[in-house]
Amino acid sequence: AVTVAGLGVSGVPAAKALHRLGAHVTVVNTTAGDKQRAEAAGLEALGIAVRLGDDAGSPARLPDGTELVVTSPGWRPDTPMFAEAAGRGIEIWGDVELAWRLRGPGAAPWLAVTGTNGKTTTTRMLAAILGAAGLRTAAVGNIGVSLLDAVLGEQDPTGESGGYDVLAVELSSYQLHWAPSIRPHSAAVLNLAPDHLDWHGSMAAYTADKGRIYQGNQVACVYNTADPATERLVREADVAEGCRAIGFTLGAPRVSELGLVDGLLVDRAFVPDRQGTAQELAGTADVQPPAPHNIANALAAAALARAWGVPPSAVREGLRAFRPDAHRIAEVAVLDGVTWVDDSKATNTHAAEASLAAYDSVVWLAGGLAKGAEFDELAARAADRLRGAVLFGADRALIREALARHAPQVPVVELERTDTGAMSAAVAAARELARTGDTVLLAPACASMDMFANYNQRGDLFAAAVRALAGPADQTR
Ligand code: ADP
Repeated sequence: AVTVAGLGVSGVPAAKALHRLGAHVTVVNTTAGDKQRAEAAGLEALGIAVRLGDDAGSPARLPDGTELVVTSPGWRPDTPMFAEAAGRGIEIWGDVELAWRLRGPGAAPWLAVTGTNGKTTTTRMLAAILGAAGLRTAAVGNIGVSLLDAVLGEQDPTGESGGYDVLAVELSSYQLHWAPSIRPHSAAVLNLAPDHLDWHGSMAAYTADKGRIYQGNQVACVYNTADPATERLVREADVAEGCRAIGFTLGAPRVSELGLVDGLLVDRAFVPDRQGTAQELAGTADVQPPAPHNIANALAAAALARAWGVPPSAVREGLRAFRPDAHRIAEVAVLDGVTWVDDSKATNTHAAEASLAAYDSVVWLAGGLAKGAEFDELAARAADRLRGAVLFGADRALIREALARHAPQVPVVELERTDTGAMSAAVAAARELARTGDTVLLAPACASMDMFANYNQRGDLFAAAVRALAGPADQTR
């Protein structure tokens, strides 16, 4: 018997797959809204038991006879039910571990990507490059496409779904925490900065969970030369014999690195002579948007693709074909010489810092749920670039206080209201602060759920409010 914790994007496919394999499945879930009830009814019709209720994570809710718990990323490791399971000697797997264990013989290897920021972008770039090389591939995992479905599709005897050569797999720190035995072909950790510390418990625990992605790598462990913590994780990893450490850098690459020379992305790692004669891959103008952190993402994607054996021409072609997802440094409009940019996906301080660094004079829209983060470093680094700040959301005071300490000259407007209409008020306040040539940047450095459904809604409301300012006659994009 298997207990599945969580009735969401990972729990439902897991429950169905386990049921199909003949397991006796019970799904437990804390929230019991209309959506969950409908989902539950669908599963119950298949013969899967579902228990909804506030106490879903309590030890008492672990059904007798449970031999395995499969958990969803949202469930914290300190959930009492997990302690109960551990006490009874029951293993706890995440959906990624389940997918790994259910891979059939000859299954597609994984090229895996994690990091605090840039995961989705890099995974999509990687899939675009692999696709340009003519490989059958998909971007899966934390990206919103079930890795389990992709893996099981391969075993589908009808062969209708799946049949991949290689998968581009985005993995979150949560997923890695519960994936002890996965062994990617090659993997990259893009960067490490404090995030989700409330879930992991500490920076050390978060870092260790990210480091699991390198375990058992066969060909390459890709790390960021500008982020020594990523290199340390490679050194500590237990990898297959012959697996290489490959760095990526925004400077000139040394041997076994990919980097930049005269505005070109070059490879000095996967070159035939092994002496590292630089092999041109693409131009920085082939990368959209060409912001420094995004060039770094492209280099990491290229490193994984080259580890798989993709030719240089496919790297260029794939990067050219790549388009960023919405809410990632998306220009909304230029009004009276002020550029309005939606980077709602900047949900932590490290991401916000990267996007603030791309502009010289910024009116910054920020706030929301801080997830245990501190804002001092961000405030100090951004101080010289800030024309003003408009703060909203539950933890706005943390940002206000950090700005008062490190950027006391910067005018701050604070919004008390927390309804979704607050975004229009924030946009109006930003307009007052902005001068010609400035950028107004929504890069909240916080999660959105205190005021919005998710970062998409937060970005959409921002864009709508900006377009409303513009009126029909103005120049918008
Ligand atoms: P993730 O999937 O890790 O959340 P995304 O690719 O969706 O990453 O990008 C999220 C945000 O992080 C972007 O909006 C941008 O602000 C920032 N970002 C992207 N790549 C990097 C990077 N390499 N370093 C720092 N910040 C980044």
